[in-house]
Amino acid sequence: MIDQERTSQVSEGLLRKLVYLRRELHAHPETAMEEEWTAQRITRYLEVLEPDLLLTKVGGTGILARFDGHGAGPELLFRCELDALAIEEENTFQHRSTVDGRSHKCGHDGHMAILCGLAERLASDRPKQGRVWLLFQPAEENGMGAKAVLADPRVSKLRFDRVFALHNLPGVPQGTVRVRNDTFTAAVNSIVIQLKGRTSHAAEPEHGINPAAAMSMIITRSLALANNVPSDPRMRVVTPVYARLGSKDYGISAGSAEVHLTLRCWADEDLDRLQRDVEQVAVEVARDQQLELSIHYTQHFHANQNDPATVDLVRAAVDAAGLELSEAAHPFKWGEDFGLFTQRFPGCMFGIGAGEDTPALHNPDYDFPDGIIPHGIAVFERIIRQH
Ligand SMILES: [Zn+2]
Ligand SMILES: [Zn+2]
Repeated sequence: MIDQERTSQVSEGLLRKLVYLRRELHAHPETAMEEEWTAQRITRYLEVLEPDLLLTKVGGTGILARFDGHGAGPELLFRCELDALAIEEENTFQHRSTVDGRSHKCGHDGHMAILCGLAERLASDRPKQGRVWLLFQPAEENGMGAKAVLADPRVSKLRFDRVFALHNLPGVPQGTVRVRNDTFTAAVNSIVIQLKGRTSHAAEPEHGINPAAAMSMIITRSLALANNVPSDPRMRVVTPVYARLGSKDYGISAGSAEVHLTLRCWADEDLDRLQRDVEQVAVEVARDQQLELSIHYTQHFHANQNDPATVDLVRAAVDAAGLELSEAAHPFKWGEDFGLFTQRFPGCMFGIGAGEDTPALHNPDYDFPDGIIPHGIAVFERIIRQH
C-alpha cells in the first residue's frame, strides 16, 4: 500500500509546475552534447531558487547547483541527465517532440523534473547540515557526459561523501523502488572491427580479396561466445548493431567490411576478457583470409557498483517515504555512465517503477509518467533529511 500523504512533500501547485516543465523539456529534445536549450531552461528554473552556487557549462552543457546546510556535514551529490535520443516520436499528445528524429525516450525529461523538484524543496527548507549538490549531466546516452563532467576542473577538485542517481523502470509498478547492492548496471563496450581486402571485378573475385566470408565468420563466432543469461554472474551479451560490406556497385567485388558489436558483462574484468576473446576471433579470421584488420572501441560504460551502506540509506528513505521496496534479483543489462561516479565515491543508483504497462525505454512510444515525479523527489529528499 502506498500512502500518498507520506510519499509527497510536494504540493499540488509545485507538482503542476514540474509537470509543465517536464512536458516542455519533452517537447524540446536535444541529443548528447547538444543540450543547449535544455541547459538554458534548467538554468533559468534554478536561478529563481537562489542556490548558494550555480555553475553552468560543466563538462559541456552540464549544470551544477549547490544548496548549503546550516552547519558542517556530508557533501551529497544527486545526478540527472539532460540528453534525449535520436528516435522519432510516435506519440501524438500535445507535448510530443517538436524536433524530427529526436525525442526523450529514456525519461531524462522526468529525471530533470525530479531534480528541479528537489531543488524547490531545498530552497524552501535548507538541509540541516552539509551541502547538497544537484548535477544535471549532459551526454549520458553515449557514455561521454560523466567523464566530461568529472574532468571539468571545477568538479575534479570536489570530494563527495555519497553520490546518488535514479532511473525510471518501465515494467515495474509505480510506487515501487528497486535497489541492489554491488553491481546495478552492466559494464558495456562497443567494438568496431574493420577489414580491408582488395576490390576486383565482380566477375573475377579470384583476383581480389573479398571480406564477406570473414565478416560472417566474425559475427557467427562472436555470437557463439555469448551467454545471455542474466542470473549467471558470468553473463556475456554480444549484440551485432551494425555491419557493412562493399558498396552497391554491381561490377565490384567488395574490398572492405566492418562489423560493430556491443559487449556486456556484469563486471569490468569479465568485459575485458570478453573483449580479448572477440579480438582473438577477429585476428584469427583476418589472418586466415589475408585481410588487414583494425579494431577500436567506442561508448564504454563502467559497471555501476552500488556501495551497500549507501544502498541502506536509500532503503531507509524508501521506507520513510511510504513506498514499496524491492530488491533486484540481478543487475540491469544497460550501460550507465553513473558508473564513473560510483568508481570514485560511495554511491547508489536505484530504479523507480514507471508502471507495468509503460512502453520500454528507447521504444518510440515511450513517455515518462508524470505520476512518479513525487516518488523520486520523496526518496531523494528523505535521503538528505535522514542523513
Ligand atoms: Zn537511455
Ligand atoms: Zn536513461
